[in-house]
Amino acid sequence: MREFVYNAAPARVVFGSGALKRLPDEVERLGLERLLVVSTPDQEGQGRRVADLLGSAVAGLFPGAVMHTPVGVTEKALAIVAAAKMDGVVAIGGGSTTGLGKAIALRTGLPQIVLPTTYAGSEMTPILGETEGGVKRTQTAAKVLPSTVIYDVDLTLSLPPSLSAVSGVNAIAHAAEALYARDGNPIIDLMAQEGIRALARALPRIVEAPQDGAARADALYGAWLCGLCLGTVGMAVHHKLCHTLGGSFDLPHAETHTIVLPHALAYNARAAPQAMARIAAALGSEDALIGLDRLLARLKVKRGLAQIGMPESSIARAAELAVANPYWNPRPVERGAIHELIRRAYDGEAPRADF
Ligand code: NAD
Repeated sequence: MREFVYNAAPARVVFGSGALKRLPDEVERLGLERLLVVSTPDQEGQGRRVADLLGSAVAGLFPGAVMHTPVGVTEKALAIVAAAKMDGVVAIGGGSTTGLGKAIALRTGLPQIVLPTTYAGSEMTPILGETEGGVKRTQTAAKVLPSTVIYDVDLTLSLPPSLSAVSGVNAIAHAAEALYARDGNPIIDLMAQEGIRALARALPRIVEAPQDGAARADALYGAWLCGLCLGTVGMAVHHKLCHTLGGSFDLPHAETHTIVLPHALAYNARAAPQAMARIAAALGSEDALIGLDRLLARLKVKRGLAQIGMPESSIARAAELAVANPYWNPRPVERGAIHELIRRAYDGEAPRADF
C-alpha cells in the first residue's frame, strides 16, 4: 500500500476559447474596483485589451514585467499600486508577468486574476522566484496563489512556435519530476501523466500549425495539469539545475529546461524505474529517454547549452552550485556525475542512462 498526503491548493479555473470575455464577471465576483493590469513590454497590447474590457475597474497599467522578477521592477509597480490605492492585480502573460503579480501580492496581500499566455505553469504554484543583486531566491507562500486563473486558449495563438515548443517542454519537466517526487501521490501521478500526454500530442502539431485551436487547447490543458504538479509536490535535480543555470548564467528559462530535461531524466532513470515507465507511456514510447528525444527532434528545439549562450568555462562552477544545498532527488546528487550531466547538456548530446 502506498501512503500519502494530498494537499490541494484552492483555485478557481475558467478555461476556454474566448474565456477573456468572462474577466469582467470574475472581477465583479471578487468585488474589485481599482485594478492594476501587468504585462511585459512585448505584451502591452494584450494588457490594453484587458484594460479596455474592464473600463473603469482599471486604475492603471504596468507593462514592465521582465524575466526572473527583479525586485527593482516590483518596487516600481508597488509605487503605482500605493499611489492609486489599487485593490487587485490582473496579470496577462507568461511566467515573468505572473511572477510580478505574485511579488505584488506577497507584499500587499492583494488578490490576483491571472491570464496565462505560455505553458510555464507559475499560476498554479505558491512559488515565487525573485532576483536581487544577481542572486535568485525562491520562496513558497500561499499568499501568492491567484484567486482566479482564466485560461483563454485564444491568447496563446500568438505565442511563436519555437517558444511554444520550449515552454511546453518546461511544463513536461514539472510533470516528469512530479512522477518521482518524494511527496508524490496517486492524484498527482494521474495529472502528470495526462499533462505529458496532452502536451506530447499537441506540441508537434503547434510547431507545424501554430493557429490550430484544438492543439492549442490541448497544450494549455496539459500545461495547467503540469503546473498543478509543480505547485503540489517537490521538484528534484532537474529543477535545481535549471534554477542554478538560469539564475547564475542568465540563460533563457524554457530553453534551459528543454536542453537539461533529457539528461536529468537519464541521471535518474535507474533510480526511478516506475516514473520512467509512466513517462514513457505518456509519451507513447517504449522508453522515456527515447520518447523524449524523439519529441524534441520533432519540435526542432536547440539541444545544447552552448547554443543558448552558456560559456564552456562555467561548467565546473555550475556543477559546484548545483550540488550545494541540493533538492531531494531519487538518486544521490554526486558532483562528478552532475558535472558530466551538465557537460553532455552543454554539448547537446543524446541522453544516455550510463552514468
Ligand atoms: P516569459 O513570461 O518571460 O515570456 C517570454 C516572452 O514571450 C516574453 O517576451 C513574453 O511577453 C512573450 N509572450 C508570452 N506569451 C506570449 C503570447 N501568447 N504571444 C506572444 N508573446 C508572448 O516566459 P515564461 O517561460 O512563461 O516564464 C519564465 C519565467 O517564469 C521565469 O522567470 C521563471 O523562473 C518563471 N516561472 C516561475 C514558476 C513558478 O512557479 N514560480 C513556474 C514557471 C516559470
